[in-house]
Amino acid sequence: MAYITVTGAAGCQIQVPTGLFIHNEFVPSATSQILVVENPSTGESLGTIAAASLEDVNKAVESATIGFNTWKSTPGPARAKLILKLADLIERDADHFASLEAVDAGILYTDSKGLNIPQTVANLRYYAGWADKIDGKTLAMEGGVAYTYREPLGVCAAIVPWNAPLMITMWKLAPSLATGNSLIIKPSELSPLYAQKLALLIQEAGFPAGVVNVIAGEGASTGRALAEHMAVRKISFTGSNPTGRQALKFAALTNLKRVNLELGGKGPSIVFDDCDLDNALLWTKIGITANNGQICAAGSRIYVQKTIYEKFLEAYKKMSESSPSVIGNPLDPATTKGPIISAAQHKKILSYIEQGKQCGARLLFGGDKVSDKGYFIENTVFADVPEDAVIMKEEIFGPVASIAPFETEAEAIAKANDTLYGLSAAIFTNDISRAHRVTAALESGHITVNAWAMLSPNAPFGGVKESGFGRDMGEDALEGWTSVKTVKYAILPPKP
Ligand code: NAD
Repeated sequence: MAYITVTGAAGCQIQVPTGLFIHNEFVPSATSQILVVENPSTGESLGTIAAASLEDVNKAVESATIGFNTWKSTPGPARAKLILKLADLIERDADHFASLEAVDAGILYTDSKGLNIPQTVANLRYYAGWADKIDGKTLAMEGGVAYTYREPLGVCAAIVPWNAPLMITMWKLAPSLATGNSLIIKPSELSPLYAQKLALLIQEAGFPAGVVNVIAGEGASTGRALAEHMAVRKISFTGSNPTGRQALKFAALTNLKRVNLELGGKGPSIVFDDCDLDNALLWTKIGITANNGQICAAGSRIYVQKTIYEKFLEAYKKMSESSPSVIGNPLDPATTKGPIISAAQHKKILSYIEQGKQCGARLLFGGDKVSDKGYFIENTVFADVPEDAVIMKEEIFGPVASIAPFETEAEAIAKANDTLYGLSAAIFTNDISRAHRVTAALESGHITVNAWAMLSPNAPFGGVKESGFGRDMGEDALEGWTSVKTVKYAILPPKP
């Protein structure tokens, strides 16, 4: 088996297989296609791995069909046991996963180790608990009785982005396997190494062949082939809106496979004048700087009540200046700000910053790239941003916040809802009635009060409007991985 060797935290050497993981074996691509894996801190290559061609996708689907037939009849407790084993293995190798996310995706090692991996493991353990509780209902009917089963869908595919790749993969893998589906994972071409390592642990845990296949590759070829495949029953997609639309279109034009879309956002953070200001400052900052703002739930629009607007801006600037980011290698535990994922994304964010400078907004701080090596950008904040400015409307997916004032609760709600997106929102207030009124009025699939994000495996996450549909996490996600079969019995009268 061929490997790439990556140097991780504290100099540890991590060996990652380079092959496609099909039917529990690492194999080369049928057409020798490869992906070059880049380190965004340096722009240098980490090596190459196999990329799946159409032929490989077909092989993975054949394998997943065999895997499904085994897995769907594996009793729930036995499925749970393997899912729990995988959780233990990921926990054991947390240093390696955190290192791979740092080197390959530019995620801070400390964030990956402190948040992404614990969430990954928690999702697996949460859904392992569901594996033997996927029950139906008994229904009284006139003239008979009915019952329902919840059945797995079959061969499913997870198409995953690069920004929190292991955790997002697990939002899909854990409920998919708990409910008896087989899963093909297609990681982002920008951060595939974690998935190669995950495949090793799938093998070690002892999952039957075909239950999980991992095929790296370009979205336009490998991802598309999965979305168009006639034997794939579901695509669980997380990524950008244009690509999500494509996946939906491919499904519509082929076998009407189920599609679950977790797309982008332009999250509002609303700060009322009755809030705990220090708490609001902390979370509105974290909400747009965590992972360099490369988070779908990022609080990229900050609306602050006019009565505290200037005070908030002054304190926001002071807070940021008094604890400047330590910019550098995300593997280093001292680093607090890593690189943007790629040259293309770096360029795109800088162009949004230029548009911010031209739109009549006030540049509070930041506004530039950091060095010529790697893809680093300063945390950037614009104030007085007009409601129709591009930086107020479009998802930037970078560390760029747009702040604007509002006067009344009604105005804050109207501004927050004035977007095509509806993924995540945060409000800051100590008035409980206001919190109820505003959370009820916001068009958002997910809202936090007096904090930001607060992920938990039992709390569903997903969007409304153009942020997509379907849910990851929580009991609600199970619906997306199962279909209901209804069986009706007529109760015949006794024979005379
Ligand atoms: P992207 O759309 O470029 O890629 C996502 C995945 O789709 C990748 O695996 C890619 O290879 C694949 N893909 C690309 N073209 C394809 C095609 N034609 N057919 C099938 N698959 C294809 O997104 P990205 O840049 O990796 O991620 C950033 C986006 O993801 C942002 O918009 C962000 O808001 C969103 N996101 C959403 C959530 C959520 O839970 N809602 C979470 C994280 C990221």
